[in-house]
Amino acid sequence: MYPRYIEPGFKPYNPVELAFKTEKIVTREGEEGQKRKYTDFYSVPVYSGIATGYAVGCCLRCFYCWSGFSRDFPEKYGEFYSPRAAFVNLVKAAREGIKYGKPYWRLLVINKARISGCEPTIGRRHLLKLLEYVETSDFKLFILETNGILIGWDKTYAKEISKFSKVHVRVSIKAGTPEGFTWRTGALGKFYDFPFKALKHLLDYGVSCHAAAMTDPRIMSREERAKILEELAEIDKTLAAGLEEEVIDPYKTTIFRLKKAGMKL
Ligand code: SF4
Repeated sequence: MYPRYIEPGFKPYNPVELAFKTEKIVTREGEEGQKRKYTDFYSVPVYSGIATGYAVGCCLRCFYCWSGFSRDFPEKYGEFYSPRAAFVNLVKAAREGIKYGKPYWRLLVINKARISGCEPTIGRRHLLKLLEYVETSDFKLFILETNGILIGWDKTYAKEISKFSKVHVRVSIKAGTPEGFTWRTGALGKFYDFPFKALKHLLDYGVSCHAAAMTDPRIMSREERAKILEELAEIDKTLAAGLEEEVIDPYKTTIFRLKKAGMKL
């Protein structure tokens, strides 16, 4: 059974196993290295302008997730791109700039890149090869937005990322307790501290990183938020001080997933 989204009676899953199940769906071998599925490449105004590869597949099932339905049904979405092809498309997206929205967005110089809409650490060889291309490019920064499960599970992943000078990692914390983790993500509670472990592994190897957390008071108590801050401070006080806090936005996919989980905000 491949979990799609949380529903009442949902059986908690192992997110590391789900990462490897998902990898089988969203990657394939190619002559130029491990290919990964993407649905699009474009630039957006967040981070003052960033080229974005929208890729497919995640190892969590957060009920507040805004990603497209490619998260739930990765087999139905996207085309396979080699690391080089993904890089070329990111460069093209950066050159084209932002084509819609506020007129001044079109003036933004796009010199950052990221993979969004998915968990980018799935397909490790694809990501690391893509980072090699970024390293020798005109991009100034690659923002790796991750849920931290795979980096928390395997410290050598952090070591490999530390070889690149242009990477900054944003680790998304889902919960301060095992119960909160299972409730929001559908994953087994014992994995709740993997994002914290990921931050620790990254700092141990000197990788630039910060923590983000969905601390929306509609789905997280003050006590649980305080636990997250405590746990971050134990790793490094600057992580707690620099916590990026998020609230739920009512995207179509978010509303669908909240309803499926039996949630009413
Ligand atoms: S980790 Fe991110 S992409 Fe994955 S389900 Fe949660 S919010 Fe969505």
